[in-house]
Amino acid sequence: MTTVAMFDTKRYDRDHLGESLLAAGIDVKFREFRLNAETVETVTEGTDVVCVFVNDKVDRAVIEHLASKGVRMIALRCAGFNGVDLAAAAEHGLLVARVPAYSPYAVAEHAVTLAMALNRRIPQANRRVRDMNFTLDGLVGFDMHGKTVGLIGTGKIGKIAGQIFKGFGTRVIMWDPYPDLAWAQEAGLEYVTLSEIGREADIVSLHVPLFPETHHIINDLVLAALKPGVILINVSRGALVDTVALIEALKTGQVGGVGLDVYEEEEGKFFEDLSGEIMDDDVLARLLTFPNVIVTAHQAFLTKEALDEIARVTTENIQAFGRGEQPEPSRIVTA
Ligand code: NAD
Repeated sequence: MTTVAMFDTKRYDRDHLGESLLAAGIDVKFREFRLNAETVETVTEGTDVVCVFVNDKVDRAVIEHLASKGVRMIALRCAGFNGVDLAAAAEHGLLVARVPAYSPYAVAEHAVTLAMALNRRIPQANRRVRDMNFTLDGLVGFDMHGKTVGLIGTGKIGKIAGQIFKGFGTRVIMWDPYPDLAWAQEAGLEYVTLSEIGREADIVSLHVPLFPETHHIINDLVLAALKPGVILINVSRGALVDTVALIEALKTGQVGGVGLDVYEEEEGKFFEDLSGEIMDDDVLARLLTFPNVIVTAHQAFLTKEALDEIARVTTENIQAFGRGEQPEPSRIVTA
């Protein structure tokens, strides 16, 4: 029987992936803490697979310990693999598999949700009526119809976001280093330059991965070139945005609203209950003081459908490994 140590496990992981693995006859040990150099000592002989998520730190030292205990597979239950030292994994003969995509709809729909919640002042309205305050002053939004939405990145998620925004009757303009012109023509959406997005978009939504070239793609210079009062949405990766520069742009009103599902220093904060602790991150604390900022803690992926897909693909990956086979090529990650 294959034995899995599953790290950073939340209740929804146990309910979906945990159940799926157990139903497949795979033995699972649930660990609520993340895998890193300190916690790797909990991995003992007899463990075949470690199952990890976005914030586990599977570096060389961790991999050396895993290999010494006989672990032979790292099963990522997410798409991103930046937390795994792939070269070290290859050197020690550990197979690394992932879930390449779970629900691009979940993430795109969350981006649109954040934009609409900001536009129609939903958090403020909700707080007000719960205080039995039924006034409307300060809750004026705008029609989406006729506005311009700029998308930076038109991969799986950006494309769906484009189609949803188009449904509001907006003009959708897009930039991507590898534009899909055939799709754009079919969808009735147009590719433009980045500076055109800056000049014309009332809402800018980021859908590119984090690469050295996209790190702080939204910086002080770019923020100054955006349309005054623009709404910025980032459900992709925190470090696409220079948060300190964003705070300055919020203070001057250059940026009129921000919806973030990701934050460059989210590790160790997002997914955790810190409600009884002192917040030591002054940037995040300042960000949370703006009435026109909505932050969600990396929950864009969190739909039932996405969790089911993560469970299905991760279980298949581990089952293939258990049979001595390779998972599908698109799910294998190599250096
Ligand atoms: P994708 O790979 O399908 O698309 C990425 C797009 O970015 C592609 O069109 C590609 O041409 C473009 N791109 C590639 N290199 C680029 C570069 N150097 N500069 C600018 N653009 C570049 O990815 P996706 O599945 O659409 O995911 C988009 C983002 O969403 C990723 O950052 C991913 O990490 C993030 N994501 C977030 C969540 C969440 O829960 N918040 C969940 C899943 C994915």
